[in-house]
Amino acid sequence: MILPVATLGPDGVDLEGEDPVEAFDWTDSPREVVRPAGPLRWKLHAELFGRELVVTGRAEAPFEGTCCRCGGPLSRTWGDAVSLSRELPEEGVSEVDLTSDLRETILLALPSNPVCADDCPGLCPRCGKRRADGPCGCADETEPNAFGALDALFGGPTHEQHTPPEPKKKPRTTTTDKKRR
Ligand SMILES: [Zn+2]
Repeated sequence: MILPVATLGPDGVDLEGEDPVEAFDWTDSPREVVRPAGPLRWKLHAELFGRELVVTGRAEAPFEGTCCRCGGPLSRTWGDAVSLSRELPEEGVSEVDLTSDLRETILLALPSNPVCADDCPGLCPRCGKRRADGPCGCADETEPNAFGALDALFGGPTHEQHTPPEPKKKPRTTTTDKKRR
């Protein structure tokens, strides 16, 4: 993102646009679970205060990769607010390259464990299937149980609640007092 300083009027300037995905200068590594999948988009307001350039707004980009929770494909947009300032030299500046600043803003917004959706249901702990793909057939506590249906029919609990007995409190074993004096 090249900001033409010359266009900055007394009220600053509003800018909106995008840089191609190559702006990320991304090198795939086996450690990375996501990679940029489209242009780096920005919507900014730039203003000059004396020689100080102040830029605010937002930058974001689409990413794709593998969900850290379910192992399925991931396709999401991540970004963050932009707020930066830069002292410009007295003369000879017609434009300022903000590409690396915007790139940093976006990369810092990437979660350390990216998931395909914030509410990704993950994997079934019993069979290991992705829950997002549909029911796996394993019973789990979220399925309605037969007693629940009977309760609904007869308007009250029809069965004894089998709660495990309270564990008996063990008498405290006296340990050697190792407190520092
Ligand atoms: Zn997922």
